[in-house]
Amino acid sequence: MARIGFIGLGIMGSGMVANLVKAGHEVTVWNRSSTKYPEIQKAGAKTANEPSDILENADFFMYCLADDAAIKEVITGGHNLASKVKPGTIAIDLSTMDPETSAAERAIYEANGVEFLDAPVFGTKGEANAGGLWIVIGGKEETYKKSLPVLEPISATTHFMGKGGNGAKMKLVGNLLVASQLVSIGEGLTLAKSAGLDLRKVLEVVGIADFKTPIYSGVGAGAIAGDYEVHFPLKLMLDAENNALAINEIQCLVVHIYQCDLALGV
Ligand code: NAP
Repeated sequence: MARIGFIGLGIMGSGMVANLVKAGHEVTVWNRSSTKYPEIQKAGAKTANEPSDILENADFFMYCLADDAAIKEVITGGHNLASKVKPGTIAIDLSTMDPETSAAERAIYEANGVEFLDAPVFGTKGEANAGGLWIVIGGKEETYKKSLPVLEPISATTHFMGKGGNGAKMKLVGNLLVASQLVSIGEGLTLAKSAGLDLRKVLEVVGIADFKTPIYSGVGAGAIAGDYEVHFPLKLMLDAENNALAINEIQCLVVHIYQCDLALGV
């Protein structure tokens, strides 16, 4: 059992905390807004009034924040928690972050004798709630191994990518692939509809043929059922700072898709 201080009760963080508690860890949470506290208390977590309260006696300091701006506000500037973490604690950033933001965090932690992992995740709300995320990790291998007891309860698999920053970089590569699939399933279904095809039949083929992916099946099924519940806020994907590389690549892909559409007379 570990003592964990956790920040961020968003779509992803809420599921992570519930699974850490379920695994027997003692978790104390701080979130900017306290509206989600009653639910997480019911799940068995403690809540704190001040962010620095969660660092008291923590073996691990974990957080899953919206974007680079939030990390700067809470961790490296503003509340400046990175410089308040005690030596011996392991800090783990589960947010999607720019590699430069991750490097800035690492510099503060290492100067204070705190081990740090950049550990962004793949998967969405369902995987977070089920403890089935896929985590990509950068940092020291020894730190990664020591952190497995708090990474395994929230994940299906963990992938040690090598030196600090490599988790953040892998996440951006993955976001390029995810975003291009989101664009292409949307375009594919639009093309299929305008061509008069039965969209359920289209998804049946998409789900078994050699281009099947959980994104095509899951997002595609939601789209044709008219279910647009937000699992991944698009504003996070468009965060110019952390996904600029991916977005540039996707713009090229979109031009290519539109050229195909035009060629098909859509
Ligand atoms: P979310 O639901 O929007 O939650 C964001 C969290 O960050 C909330 O706890 C929010 O607090 C907090 N926050 C935002 N700005 C803040 C600030 N300036 N100061 C303090 N706290 C702040 O986002 P999410 O979907 O859980 O995503 C969290 C991270 O996981 C992001 O980096 C995202 O890219 C990544 N991710 C998301 C998904 C997905 O499918 N959702 C998948 C993979 C990775 P409040 O509750 O007070 O707003």
